[in-house]
Amino acid sequence: MNDSIKEILISGDQITQRCKEMAAQINEDYKGKKVILLGLLKGSVPFLSELSKYIEAEVSFEYMNVSSYDGVESKTLVVKQDVEGPIAGKNIIIVEDIIDTGKTLANVVEMLYDRDVRSVKVATMLDKPEGRTFDIKADYVGFEIPNAFVVGFGLDFNERFRQLPYVGILKESCYK
Ligand code: 5GP
Repeated sequence: MNDSIKEILISGDQITQRCKEMAAQINEDYKGKKVILLGLLKGSVPFLSELSKYIEAEVSFEYMNVSSYDGVESKTLVVKQDVEGPIAGKNIIIVEDIIDTGKTLANVVEMLYDRDVRSVKVATMLDKPEGRTFDIKADYVGFEIPNAFVVGFGLDFNERFRQLPYVGILKESCYK
């Protein structure tokens, strides 16, 4: 285990097993349909890669890098990197690493509907329901976790720890 990690919360094997179950549900829901897996950069990449291995529906990949800022206007979404192909009329599954307040996701869903997509669903590896301040729910949730700051399997602390093959809790000495 990495020296900076206090505790492993979810192992790589658990994530793989859960991805198989989530993919089975997606296969059921999108039987005979095409769907775009829209990964939100950077954190969703390892989860997207694991989940997609078990999806049998016809999928293509797109990526977006967005930030949502707090401000006078509560919903400000900055698109740092946009999708490559056309998305109007398409079925989309947004793939996210973690949902906390739900702000990022609420903004992205609204923006996608403004672009006339056919349908939007959300798959997230982790969900912190206690942190929610925006009214948004994921359709496919890997694991619900308590309100702790976690890293690994795509999740970072100052760009570190994304490569860890598990989700863990950082030692306090790393940020104090
Ligand atoms: P939201 O908009 O739902 O509040 O925040 C979602 C984003 O916040 C995630 O994509 C992630 O970048 C970041 N985030 C929220 N909770 C955590 C956490 O526990 N660990 C890490 N590394 N990032 C988090």
